[in-house]
Amino acid sequence: MKIYNTLSRKKEEFIPLEEGKVRMYVCGPTVYNYIHIGNARPMIIFDTVRRYLEYKGYDVNYVSNFTDVDDKIIKKANEEGVSSEEISKRYIAECKKDMQALNVKPATKHPLATEEISGMIEMIRTLMDKGFAYEKNGTVYFRTRKFPEYGKLSHKNLDELQSGNRSLLVSGADEKEDSLDFVLWKPKKEGEPSWASPWSEGRPGWHIECSEMSKRYLGEQIDIHAGGEDLIFPHHENEIAQSEAANGKLFSRYWMHNGFLNIDNKKMSKSLGNFFTVREIQEKYDLQILRFFMLSVHYRSPLNFSAELMEAAKNSLERITNAVDSLNRLSAAAQERPLSEQEQAVKKQGEELVSKYEAAMEDDFNTADAISAVFELVRLANTSAGENTSKELISYLKNTILTLCDILGIEAEKKQEMLDSDIEAMIAQRQAARKAKNYARADEIRNELAKKGILLEDTRQGVKWKRVSIH
Ligand code: AMP
Ligand code: ZN
Repeated sequence: MKIYNTLSRKKEEFIPLEEGKVRMYVCGPTVYNYIHIGNARPMIIFDTVRRYLEYKGYDVNYVSNFTDVDDKIIKKANEEGVSSEEISKRYIAECKKDMQALNVKPATKHPLATEEISGMIEMIRTLMDKGFAYEKNGTVYFRTRKFPEYGKLSHKNLDELQSGNRSLLVSGADEKEDSLDFVLWKPKKEGEPSWASPWSEGRPGWHIECSEMSKRYLGEQIDIHAGGEDLIFPHHENEIAQSEAANGKLFSRYWMHNGFLNIDNKKMSKSLGNFFTVREIQEKYDLQILRFFMLSVHYRSPLNFSAELMEAAKNSLERITNAVDSLNRLSAAAQERPLSEQEQAVKKQGEELVSKYEAAMEDDFNTADAISAVFELVRLANTSAGENTSKELISYLKNTILTLCDILGIEAEKKQEMLDSDIEAMIAQRQAARKAKNYARADEIRNELAKKGILLEDTRQGVKWKRVSIH
């Protein structure tokens, strides 16, 4: 299997640290709002990478954090007059609902930065002991030039970086030894969440959070570290400097980065305001269509979001679900008999398409080509399965399509539409669970309904529901 490694800028053969196991860390979102569909791209991509590795028989330890202490969270909390914790807890819960609706498997562990502060303080202390960090007025900085390999991930040269930063030095307002140094710990400002440390009452810098959480849950060395390409510099470059300086070992063997989701050829981002939340898209489309759309292009390529492409994805996905539907119908009346010679030839063609699919996935997760192999399989099923086909061939074709789609996180079997009366009954159960303060069960029911395309809205007049598009 080959993975494009940002470190070497080459596709490299994937060899895990420990046979049969993969340790993987994916930088998660900062939780101050609903996630947008740009944030959903790494979730979908790296969940697909995980699913393929699991299909290959690897035991994948998949860790993905939530950044729950950050300036943007504090700002939102101040705007609403609530605590930062209330904001982050709310949007973590909402993010998990979106992940479920996108069929993104929960990570083995979703650490929260605020629950890992003591480990971060330990790591900063190690960096100070080793001379890689220093304190000034309660702020701790990383001494970038002390780490000779700085720039190896982003392929940046220290002197170029330095000249880019010169304006800071001229202003003289900076207390850092060097303009390249970055923050590991900062003192709190009025009204900010804070923790005690040997240097000041304050909070960690963003980069140290991931270095520590990755170490705590996966160990000092990991196989794959991933995120969107905007994280290459400075976030991942700084994580490498911190982790390798503190642990004295290579941090991650493979670094994977997804390209951006754009809109009108501009990066979709919260700060530019040109984004759609996953929730907004869910009102119009089954989120499987969004997932399918994201996987129809190679993960390192930029992807432009448009209604036309979503419609095309919807039609493509329908071709697959229709084929499975018709195989199901044929199967009900099919004869149980051994494969005929001609059917054996069809099965062999199917097996070749599975190999084609695997070859695409093993070439740096080329999901676009893998999907083409699924379409060839659909075409094979449509042309070769009929009323006289054996049950065995029909099952083979159907199960193969379902398995290959499942690796992509796509459920190719049509879901049954729910009856209004069943929906009302589940809403009543949810109300009863809430009354009994069993909020976990209430959320579970809401999620079950969401998976079936029923969205609930709690209003002053009671619970309202609506169906969202479902294939
Ligand atoms: P953030 O909440 O901004 O830290 O982002 C969480 C994850 O989403 C990171 O891996 C980002 O690189 C990724 N991300 C943010 N915006 C986009 C986008 N427009 N396209 C693809 N990935 C994105
Ligand atoms: Zn990170």
